[in-house]
Amino acid sequence: MKKANPHRVIPVFIPQRACPFRCSYCNQFAIAGQPKVPTPDEAKAVIESHLATMPKDAEVRIAFFGGSFTGMRLSEQEAFLQVAEPYVRSGLVNGIQLSTRPDYITPEVLELLKAYRVVLIELGAQSLDDEILSRVGRGHTVAQVREASRMITEAGFSLGLQMMIGLPGDTKEKAMRTAETIVELGASCTRIYPTLVVKDTLLAEQYRQGQYQPLDLETAVEWCKDLYRYFVGHGVTILRMGLHPSEGLLKGTDYLAGPFHVSFKELVLTALWRDCIAEAVAAHDGPVVVKVPAQEINYAVGYASANKKAFPQVRFEVEG
Ligand code: SF4
Repeated sequence: MKKANPHRVIPVFIPQRACPFRCSYCNQFAIAGQPKVPTPDEAKAVIESHLATMPKDAEVRIAFFGGSFTGMRLSEQEAFLQVAEPYVRSGLVNGIQLSTRPDYITPEVLELLKAYRVVLIELGAQSLDDEILSRVGRGHTVAQVREASRMITEAGFSLGLQMMIGLPGDTKEKAMRTAETIVELGASCTRIYPTLVVKDTLLAEQYRQGQYQPLDLETAVEWCKDLYRYFVGHGVTILRMGLHPSEGLLKGTDYLAGPFHVSFKELVLTALWRDCIAEAVAAHDGPVVVKVPAQEINYAVGYASANKKAFPQVRFEVEG
């Protein structure tokens, strides 16, 4: 079987550009670890430096992350797209993607993005529960997410819908309903971010005053385990689970509390494998051999060998 080409993304962070206000949990400057909005020339330098390190056979996308790309003036959006598009035209890059807010999708915006070969639009949906959206000051409703999703898919773009877990008012049932709606709206991909209490945010204030309690790590992993199963079962690619560990998150200088872990995804996949192994162990007496695809072996053995230690009667074998 032909090996699939590796997928790579060149991330261009545009922190909190054009956001109408700050959502209660958000401090993009801390999270992205890059306080300044780049100029188009600086964005070009970022693209060039990443391209120099890409494997020759990689499927590469340029991704504008971090703020509300389509909330910028059309001319500003175009300035960034004009930097990125020639790389697609020349074949060095396979496409452009971006993330934005659901209330910043208009026919004019979609026309511009189409002209510049954007292939994937990711919306920060965060929760598809109106009460939660209101409590965190998102400034848009579930109906707006639905409408933007419809416009994006009807215009022929791939749709991504990002979600958060553990926002004020969230429950596991509400998180699962959000996932169901993400599938229903036709998203091809998602990202799942556990809510962290980041410094200099309204949420940090609410946390200090005892009005908000984040999920603990174990609970966040358990919720994500079920979300993972659900999305995979419905053909939705999970592009990320857990925030990218910026320097401020790693050192703990930027966040106060919440389920942060450098290997969050690994913890979730470890928990999924733990459940499978527990079933196999319960069904057999004595030693058990678990056959695992090569790319899953680290998760099967578990983060810090957690599953290997928990099930000493199990031998792990790589399939094939
Ligand atoms: S829209 Fe996104 S980037 Fe802007 S403040 Fe809210 S969470 Fe932060």
